[in-house]
Amino acid sequence: MTTAVTVALAVPAGWAVWTLAEYLLHRFAMHHLHGRGIMSREHLEHHVTSGWSFDRNHVLSWTGMLLVGGVVWAPLGWVLVSPLAGVTVAAGWAFGYFFYEYQHAVAHLRAPRTRYQRLVRRHHFHHHFGAPMRNHGVTIPFWDHVFGTHEAPDRVRVPRRLALPWLVDADGEVRPAFAADYVLVGAAEPTERLLTLDRARAFASVAPAD
Ligand SMILES: [Zn+2]
Ligand SMILES: [Zn+2]
Repeated sequence: MTTAVTVALAVPAGWAVWTLAEYLLHRFAMHHLHGRGIMSREHLEHHVTSGWSFDRNHVLSWTGMLLVGGVVWAPLGWVLVSPLAGVTVAAGWAFGYFFYEYQHAVAHLRAPRTRYQRLVRRHHFHHHFGAPMRNHGVTIPFWDHVFGTHEAPDRVRVPRRLALPWLVDADGEVRPAFAADYVLVGAAEPTERLLTLDRARAFASVAPAD
């Protein structure tokens, strides 16, 4: 295989393998484990508040995923095809992983700027607020369709207390640009009981109450 063909095939292959890992890790290693192990616990904490902020656990997972690329995918591609295929398949994997981290973070922090980002948010926030055992893919819904876990409501129901910062205006109402995609439910100020319930439901992978 020429260099160009190897790169043109191996990078998308590594990326595709990442998207399957993204789906399987999110579904099984994060939600099915109900908080057992650091990966599951950190992810379910993310579901408790639906916020996103950088912490040192991100560095841990970045290192872990780069290691998987270097220790698993690079040698496999190297042995099965060629040294260049090994390096480029690992690069595709790493690119897919960082693309996921970026899209997930900005989905929580910023309003969508493209049709793709609008789709990512609708898909992911229905996972957060409507059906945590559905829509496990973050960057693409493909594997949810393959494994029968895809769900797309007309409008995503968002508890007011958990509303994303970009979704609401100064009065706490859905910005007109997003009214076709999202509807707010429940009260803005949670009771102590509701906050306790949010944690319990997040760790049970059940949608938050209205
Ligand atoms: Zn999220
Ligand atoms: Zn989740």
